[in-house]
Amino acid sequence: MEYTLTSKVQSQAKAVLKDWIAVPSVCDETDDKTPFGRHIQEALEIALDTCEELGFKTFIDPQGYYGYAEIGQGEELLAILCHLDVVPAEDLVEWTHNPFEMVESDGKLYGRGTQDDKGPSVAALYGVKALMDQGYEFNKRVRFIFGTDEETLWRCMARYGEIEEQATYGFAPDSAFPLTYAEKGLLQAYLVGPGSNDLTLNNDRAFNAVPAKAMYQGDKMDAVKAALDQLGFEYTEEARQIVVLGKSVHAKDAYEGTNAVIRLALALEKLFPENPAFKLIKDKFYETGYAKPIFGEVEDEMSGPLTVNLSKLIINEDESRIGLDIRIPVTADKDLLVDQLAKAAAEYDFEYQEFDYLNSLYVPLDSPLVNTLLEVYRDLTGDMTEPISSGGATFARTMPNCVAFGAQTKGAAVTEHQIDEYISVENFYDAMEIYAHAVKELASDPA
Ligand SMILES: [Zn+2]
Repeated sequence: MEYTLTSKVQSQAKAVLKDWIAVPSVCDETDDKTPFGRHIQEALEIALDTCEELGFKTFIDPQGYYGYAEIGQGEELLAILCHLDVVPAEDLVEWTHNPFEMVESDGKLYGRGTQDDKGPSVAALYGVKALMDQGYEFNKRVRFIFGTDEETLWRCMARYGEIEEQATYGFAPDSAFPLTYAEKGLLQAYLVGPGSNDLTLNNDRAFNAVPAKAMYQGDKMDAVKAALDQLGFEYTEEARQIVVLGKSVHAKDAYEGTNAVIRLALALEKLFPENPAFKLIKDKFYETGYAKPIFGEVEDEMSGPLTVNLSKLIINEDESRIGLDIRIPVTADKDLLVDQLAKAAAEYDFEYQEFDYLNSLYVPLDSPLVNTLLEVYRDLTGDMTEPISSGGATFARTMPNCVAFGAQTKGAAVTEHQIDEYISVENFYDAMEIYAHAVKELASDPA
């Protein structure tokens, strides 16, 4: 791509990204002074300081749920929806570099948050800064909204939505180019059933990832190993427990992963054939990532198939608890699906409990916003890839007329949520360039 942005603004952006990555803004709810921990509070303050230095007016929610930075004037509000929290780094020893010290190597910027979502946020911010440097005036208010709770429960945007102004339109730089105009509904739920005196399990993994590990500890080690061998499932033994191995992918692509928790349940079902949790999992979920025995074929052209990720299996004397992450096509009827799920669960004496639900997103392809963003992207890149729909969830669905726009460029590796997360320098600069032109088209008068 030919850059109109100067190398000066590019390297400023890189330096700022380094500062933002240095804050390990992982959710921590044990701190009593902040909703999501002092690191997230610090990330919010640093981001707003950066914006203020660039000439934005800033506001921080006194309770610490969100902040925003605004430039320009006019009735209409162009929102750029970012988030400053990151997922945990997990095993530090597996990282090549310290995840919270951005390192540039081989044309890549390594660090937790470089791709999701600090890198894209800084790229968008400096795209706008470049316009300011070039003397553009904004005929709409351009507002960067910084959420702090995207990787967990979106309480930041819930609070923003209760108090603050909604977007006229906007985008979330938290996905891939060209743009996402449809996002599936996202349902996270529990099935809760009878406890067991025979065994205890405590596999409490994140909802939004296919679990790569599942643990068993108890007095049937040899029998569990024999069952796993018989099924051909991989496992290791560590610290007197069996660790069943799978392959983790994002829950939206559940059908591409290998679910270690389900594999453990299938092995345990052989030892405890009367246990209703294992029966339920074997009969209704098995390994496919669709749970077709419950829902049948659910799919639409805009958003693809319904997917199901079973990531939590907790069994103790009091209860058995199964955690599910379900991505619902935009045209499907959520209430009907919940009905089907509750009925299937009831056959095994399990009860449905909703944990969280996010509405789907759908902005028509012929809307002015989609047209403008797509035109900017195509002009700059020559890439004619059609807009996509996604099972992922971005803040775009928290406001009307918002889409996900970038920042992964075509062919870029998906590294978010993974060990050695990175964004390539080229991707970072390309995204800045695209965002600058997009905001110029959407919200500026000629310089
Ligand atoms: Zn993100």
